[in-house]
Amino acid sequence: MSVTVHQFPCLSDNYGFLVRDDATGLAACIDTPDAPAILAELAKLGWKLDLILNTHWHPDHAGGNAAIKAATGATVVGPAEVERLTPVDRQVAGGDTVKLGETRFAVIESGGHTLGHIAFHDAADKVAFVGDTLFTLGCGRLFEGTPAQMWDSLARLAALPDDTAVYCAHEYTASNARFALSVDASPELKTRAEAIFAARERGEWTVPTTIGLEKATNPFLRAPLLKPGMAPHEAFGAVRAAKDAFKG
Ligand code: ZN
Ligand code: FE
Repeated sequence: MSVTVHQFPCLSDNYGFLVRDDATGLAACIDTPDAPAILAELAKLGWKLDLILNTHWHPDHAGGNAAIKAATGATVVGPAEVERLTPVDRQVAGGDTVKLGETRFAVIESGGHTLGHIAFHDAADKVAFVGDTLFTLGCGRLFEGTPAQMWDSLARLAALPDDTAVYCAHEYTASNARFALSVDASPELKTRAEAIFAARERGEWTVPTTIGLEKATNPFLRAPLLKPGMAPHEAFGAVRAAKDAFKG
């Protein structure tokens, strides 16, 4: 059993992801930031789209659903909140399983950026698609949820195996790294940030990351260590508020 993940940049700073179940050749797209770009990539690869998997309702994640469904006949799978923007064929929530051929994605509740945000985890292949919850050295803004809700969501993702490949929906890493350096003096972060700045100078992507790398250097996951004496979700809330105010 295995999957192939095809990643490509689209819009100003989103990534599109197509994932193929190698046993059957069936493919899914994770979110629909840019329908023409996704359809062009599918045509280039010759993959057959079976599923559209949405992480949350924002237009840069579900805005291309209708056009892609019309072009491919794919089934739209997502959290109920996506109905705010566009129809969903199958609503899923944390604890559900989505099958793509022989591949199984566990749905992980990851609300906070939006209330109903979900992530998709394929444990057998050690890949997770986390939308706008966890970013390389960052996390999503709290547009709808509370710090406590987001902290619980991040903790669920952090509990995945360290070698899980984490596919975040945006390339925000250089700016995340500048903020991280302002709140965390750890040598591991400094080394990683330098490598990230150099990679971005060369135009390289910093997605996917891994759970292990984020646990070691992401200031949001490290918030309880950076703010000792505070409850973990309050420490997280303080770091998130500092990022919201950061001008860097
Ligand atoms: Zn979003
Ligand atoms: Fe987004």
